Amino acid sequence: MDFIIDHDYHVHSQLSIDIAAGEGYDNDAILDYADKSSLKKVCLTNHFWDETVPCDFEWYQQQGYTHLSKALPLPKRDDVEFFFGCEADVDKNLNIGITKQTAEKFDFIIVSTTHMHMQGFTTDLAAYDINGRREEYLARIKKVLSADLPLKKIGLAHLTSVLICPDVEDGHIKVLSGISDSEYKDVFAKVAALGAGIEINVKAFRCSDGLVDELLRPYKIAAECGCRFYLGSDSHFPNDLATAKDGFKRILNMLAFEEEQKFRF
Ligand SMILES: [Zn+2]
Ligand SMILES: [Zn+2]
Repeated sequence: MDFIIDHDYHVHSQLSIDIAAGEGYDNDAILDYADKSSLKKVCLTNHFWDETVPCDFEWYQQQGYTHLSKALPLPKRDDVEFFFGCEADVDKNLNIGITKQTAEKFDFIIVSTTHMHMQGFTTDLAAYDINGRREEYLARIKKVLSADLPLKKIGLAHLTSVLICPDVEDGHIKVLSGISDSEYKDVFAKVAALGAGIEINVKAFRCSDGLVDELLRPYKIAAECGCRFYLGSDSHFPNDLATAKDGFKRILNMLAFEEEQKFRF
């Protein structure tokens, strides 16, 4: 059976401070989106850095648990399960912005290992340092996989994001194309063994024409390793919600995954 589009586990709301006042949407709009798109499960994942983990980045200092919990209690609606999650991050010293204790407060946690656009916080590398970024890309994923966290309710967000190398045209492709199949296999065999999920993020398949195979390669290798996958629209604005389902369809057409490859937490 083909992979069924019945969930979205990466959705922001107006609580994320990269969304200007009046430009986002609230929890009820997320449930409306789920209804319209025939989704049975959605998870709220606003940007997060745990207050109990030191952080000198003001953007994250404003987005601790106290801030995210303003979304609670989540509204209820028949036929849609609404989960409380977060999008955690990894800094340049490979500190992860969530602890085991805080993780208990969330139904699901996505960890972004590819937010390498936050110069000075997530990386000190030059914009064009392709080899350095490749090493950091792998190190950041491996750190999450070795962390004392409940990995069965953790997903790896947008592994093929343009944010890996945002200031170079197709920079993310340049970084990823240097990763060998066996390097990917090393990582994805661990992901599968630990039971973590891999995100199919609508925004993580952007590149110049003719290059998309390089973005599909890690997911295909992950599938061979037995990894499980979930969908994430990474919606920030109403238009993201409106176009999410078509985006999921487009990517699933390319990956041709089966329903039994679906990640569940
Ligand atoms: Zn992200
Ligand atoms: Zn996000």
